[in-house]
Amino acid sequence: MSAQVLRVGGMTPCSTVDFPDALAAVIYCQGCPWRCHYCHNPELLPARGENQLDWADLLAWLRRRQGLLDAVVFSGGEPTMQPGIVGAVKAVRNLGFKVGLHTAGSYPQRLQEVLAWVDWVAMDIKGEWADYPEVTGVANSAEKARESVEAVKASGVAYELRVLEGVG
Ligand code: SF4
Repeated sequence: MSAQVLRVGGMTPCSTVDFPDALAAVIYCQGCPWRCHYCHNPELLPARGENQLDWADLLAWLRRRQGLLDAVVFSGGEPTMQPGIVGAVKAVRNLGFKVGLHTAGSYPQRLQEVLAWVDWVAMDIKGEWADYPEVTGVANSAEKARESVEAVKASGVAYELRVLEGVG
């Protein structure tokens, strides 16, 4: 069980810009397998960070926000890197919050697993597919991202593809 606990590197208690038309808490998941040269959250890239928040404490805090917040957004880092994202998404959904997911699409299979519990997805598109290896530093990153885009489109979940400018 403990191996499935979500590792969290930070959070924003209340945001109006991270989930469409909703007040949302944003949870920054620890870890990302890619190394985009422009990444603005380098402290979240290692699988284990120096300043982790306790997931159980976060859930308790969210219980006290029922009725005050509309949604919880899992961001990163890359939320789908951790097996614990599946249980975390379900737990948040069971508290009555809408669930948002920010992802780069690096783990399409785990993304598929959580899509059934998610209300909205924002996926970063890092330029042309051919540029992915150079942008991310990972050889098969374009294949992963393409598979993830197809999974999101097929899921019926509301989504936004965010094409990042100035990359490549
Ligand atoms: S995928 Fe996102 S979190 Fe990961 S290195 Fe790239 S910009 Fe940073």
